[in-house]
Amino acid sequence: MRAVTLLVVLCLGLGACSGEPSARVVDDAALADLTESHDWLAFGRTYHEQRHSPLTQINDSTVSSLGVAWYMDLPNDRTLYGTPLVVDGVMYFEGSYNVLRAVDAATGKLLWEFDPEVTKHAGNRLRVMWDASRGVAFWKGKVYVATVDGRLIAVDAGTGTEIWSTMTVDPALPLYITGAPKVFRGLVVIGNGGTEDGPIRGYLDAYDAETGERVWRWYTVPGNPADGFENDAMKMAAATWTGEWWRFGGGGTVWHAITYDPDFDQLIFGTGNGAPWNRKIRSPGGGDNLFLCSVVALDATTGEYRWHYQTVPGETWDYNSNMDIVLADLTIEGRPVKAALHAPKNGFFYVLNRENGKLLSAEPFVEVTWATGIDSTGRPIEVAGARYEDGDAVVSPSALGGHSWHAMSYNPGTGLVYIPAMEFAGGYSDKTVDIENWESPNWRFDAGVDPLTTDVPPEAGTSSLKAWDPVAQRVVWEAPKPGLWNAGTLTTAGNLVFQGQGNGRLVAHRATDGEVLWSFNLGLGISAPPITYSVEDRQYVAILVGWGGAGAAMLGSLSAQDGWAYRAQMRRLVTFALDGAVELPAQAPPGFPKPLVSKDFRVDATLVTEGQESYVRLCWRCHGPAGVSGGTAPDLRASPILLSKEAYLDVVLRGSRQDKGMPGFPNLDEAGALAVQHYVRSLIPKVGQGN
Ligand code: CA
Repeated sequence: MRAVTLLVVLCLGLGACSGEPSARVVDDAALADLTESHDWLAFGRTYHEQRHSPLTQINDSTVSSLGVAWYMDLPNDRTLYGTPLVVDGVMYFEGSYNVLRAVDAATGKLLWEFDPEVTKHAGNRLRVMWDASRGVAFWKGKVYVATVDGRLIAVDAGTGTEIWSTMTVDPALPLYITGAPKVFRGLVVIGNGGTEDGPIRGYLDAYDAETGERVWRWYTVPGNPADGFENDAMKMAAATWTGEWWRFGGGGTVWHAITYDPDFDQLIFGTGNGAPWNRKIRSPGGGDNLFLCSVVALDATTGEYRWHYQTVPGETWDYNSNMDIVLADLTIEGRPVKAALHAPKNGFFYVLNRENGKLLSAEPFVEVTWATGIDSTGRPIEVAGARYEDGDAVVSPSALGGHSWHAMSYNPGTGLVYIPAMEFAGGYSDKTVDIENWESPNWRFDAGVDPLTTDVPPEAGTSSLKAWDPVAQRVVWEAPKPGLWNAGTLTTAGNLVFQGQGNGRLVAHRATDGEVLWSFNLGLGISAPPITYSVEDRQYVAILVGWGGAGAAMLGSLSAQDGWAYRAQMRRLVTFALDGAVELPAQAPPGFPKPLVSKDFRVDATLVTEGQESYVRLCWRCHGPAGVSGGTAPDLRASPILLSKEAYLDVVLRGSRQDKGMPGFPNLDEAGALAVQHYVRSLIPKVGQGN
């Protein structure tokens, strides 16, 4: 072992080993080691998902001299919200469309690039999810990439060549992957997302890390009882559903949090919302609907059920529990507890005993109006009317959550959890929904609730960074943040918390009291969490800069407020170190697309209603509500393509921009496509209105 380590040091010193397989063995022992400080081996650094580093060179006294050490421009990328890994001085990171790159972590020199050609493989499935990924996994010389289109691929870490590739989803279903795979004990585990676009039944898969063969699958919700249950857990779950839920899939996808718990050799993961969101449709006689919106533990080897805790019984708000699950050793009432920490969309912060899944405490960390608290049995005390029983309701948090997938971090030194928190109320209504006759959508967004048809004003939501004491269950300090959609956090033994903001600034706070000690303007909204590592005794902080995710796309003017217009600003990987003196090229200034005025285009008002109906089902998710783009995709009001019938039909019906990420919509006919065109043109005030 010592000889191997020396060889690596020699290689790095001479710069001669580029392209050689990484010599450090990344295995269970390495991934469970909280004390090793040089590398960032896994999504949350180690199995514990704490995003805490023991490194102290950059600390609350020195951080003021932090500057750019190196950067890499990524001109072909768009959304970037992934966590890079660092193994033996080599950084592995995913850009848009799962393009994987290996770079020298001290210099930024590109070693290799692996392109899984997602736009070719995904085809029309780009309609349900676009281009982004939260990260990769590393195990014994292989990097594991889970593609948007549903493949799990093992790549040789030394050469960037594909070793095996396995399809993990049925391509006939609108499933996609944005989450990072998890590796432990020779298994690679991955789930998927897609509950808003079809009859989806959630599951989690484990594959052999060496061969890519599936070892087990665990469904999160029961199927049709007539087909028999896969296991006792599904039988237990079926008793909590009513009606013919299996016709709608049920939902419960595992699209993000998957944590391996080495202390109990178990997998702890969070499950998603119902398909559809509206329980009146999917389970009309009520019921808790296990295992939706739950934290579930499985035996890591066999995939057998151990325990669960459901955060939202009978979920009906898209309050999924897919947010990160952090392992921490706490002392509660004088006793040591192996805890799991979880701050899901529903606004409560949960502390679970992960030995048995028992709830230890739960308190709201943002404004919560759907429930007044959690009772002594662990159930939420719901507020009458919140479940839009009478047709509509406005509740907090919104479907975007009090906390989304933006990572929280835990610092064992301060005992605090650093949560990117959001205050944003959501309106729910099913007044126009035909509850009795609703059918699952087929590749179109439909959650069984009325769709968003209007723009969202910038002041509709606010945000903060909260330092939360998980033992006392209270805020210790809170730093107000700009906008709504700010990125995940990193904390270090240097008494620091780093967070990238939607307004383009990377900020370092003092971990104990939140004081801002340093900040840097990167000129583009940040949606990725930073990491830290060291090479040859120099500590670095690295971050991907590329605005993206639901909050950057789906909320119109709230998403667009900082002016990160589509492709206007350069996407980058930027790495900082003390006394770093590299100058970043200037970014394009914030800008706001101007709707194109045309005297020649005449809106046919008879098409607008139909066009809006298709727009909210097919276009909104990327192009924004009421045509107001948040920067994730082009603002269609400003697109010249919509002024040319032929060019427009070429893109929308025939998919001529598929390679740029814009899928074709073959389920629209020409008349349907033109209705969308006229709807978008109708959004431009006082122009193009025809006669
Ligand atoms: Ca959802």
